[in-house]
Amino acid sequence: MADHSFDYDLFVIGAGSGGVRAARTAAARGARVAVAEAGRLGGTCVNVGCVPKKLMVYAAGFADAFDDARGFGWGSARPAFSWADLIAAKDVEITRLNGVYQRLLGGSGVIIIEGRAHLADAHTVVVGDARFTTETVLIATGGRPFVPDVPGARLGIVSDAVFSLPELPPRVAVIGGGYIAVEFAGIMSGLGAEVSLIYRGPLFLRGFDNDIRATLAGEMVKRGIDLRFNMEVDRLERTSEGIRVCGPAGDEIEADLVLWATGRVPNTGDIGLEKLGVELGENGTVVVDEFSQTSVPGIYAIGDCTDRMALTPVAIGEAMALVETINGRPTAMDYSNVPTAVFSRPQVGTVGFTEDEARAAGHEVVIFRATFRPMLNTLSGRDEHTMMKLVVDETDDRVLGVHMVGPDAGEIIQGFAVALKCGATKARFDATVGIHPTAAEEFVTMREPVDD
Ligand code: NDP
Repeated sequence: MADHSFDYDLFVIGAGSGGVRAARTAAARGARVAVAEAGRLGGTCVNVGCVPKKLMVYAAGFADAFDDARGFGWGSARPAFSWADLIAAKDVEITRLNGVYQRLLGGSGVIIIEGRAHLADAHTVVVGDARFTTETVLIATGGRPFVPDVPGARLGIVSDAVFSLPELPPRVAVIGGGYIAVEFAGIMSGLGAEVSLIYRGPLFLRGFDNDIRATLAGEMVKRGIDLRFNMEVDRLERTSEGIRVCGPAGDEIEADLVLWATGRVPNTGDIGLEKLGVELGENGTVVVDEFSQTSVPGIYAIGDCTDRMALTPVAIGEAMALVETINGRPTAMDYSNVPTAVFSRPQVGTVGFTEDEARAAGHEVVIFRATFRPMLNTLSGRDEHTMMKLVVDETDDRVLGVHMVGPDAGEIIQGFAVALKCGATKARFDATVGIHPTAAEEFVTMREPVDD
């Protein structure tokens, strides 16, 4: 990168997690960088994703804390909850983060260009009336919620809108069975709504370990969430009382608010990619090679618009690898053992192979599993169990997968992800001293495998 006949060395389209990291890192290495953003800095994660969602998960968690406190000698009344106060406080925090992103970019010497960008050619970016030339283009435009095309679909909202709802209605129906459906079902039920979760398959969180899926389903039912599995949705109807969600088999659920959580699609429609011959896949996904290079030289893409793993830390990893690549050291992101958490209630944390994936990959596996009532729940009386599971290769003793449903699962699994990256064996887990009394110690004290 250093052809000064261009205005910029790198022009990033989209200031989300991936775009911002690529812009800042490239600028820190001396590149002349611009980033164009039509919305607020920080993209999905900061504005309508990970961050405000986690703040809402904390809010919902207080409901448990107030209830559990009674068993520990605290008074009995749960204080009143104000949705409007939560949204206002969340908005202040998100605005603060927008400012942090602005300062981070500015401080790195990145030029921020407000507006929607499109490509006139592989080296020319147009934003409004302005044209900029650049040696390299990075598409980091993220994704947006997908809503199935069924009659009445517009009666439902998508996750973006939850963060600015004026109030939390009493009855909520969530359609979908992925991260977003499960997380919002937990948030809204914790904050006081009566929640139904409608999923077209037999058990939600497809792709996660089956013990996680079954354990979480059981715990959500105990929390009063109405799980409607094997229910397709073929239309929404307005009624005098609210919105009716209707399935082809005649099943119906009435709610005041319907949330579509049926996946996301890439934001790649109006950038001019097709015209330039950039290969697009299903739903407009930008097709890239292992170095995030598109089919057109000089145009790269990272993050959700490439639909590899739609996770903020993965987009950031792709950004870091990309900066190495455009600096002449081709670097590929390592997608093995990427840990992830679902901020459901209780939480899910997972890294490595599920039991089914390990077997499908040809491993002979030994399974260790523990289900127990965490100590907090002894005095609180809460009927909720934690589940932990290890998938171990029988031949070389390597731990292939670590899975958990329970409080702080995301925090706990992060550390075990390091162990898996280091290729830890079950013997190493056994040789590790536990921290007592914690739930996490169970991962290093499981001695007896479960029967097949
Ligand atoms: P997911 O892809 O996780 O889940 C989509 C869900 O919608 C699936 O259960 C799918 O069913 C269902 N679905 C898809 N199409 C239809 C349809 N036409 N009718 C009925 N149901 C349908 O998407 P999300 O939107 O929940 O999340 C998007 C991605 O964002 C996640 O995959 C994840 O990568 C990321 N994310 C990460 C979070 C985290 O790290 N905690 C939090 C939120 C999102 P089926 O399984 O049958 O295909």
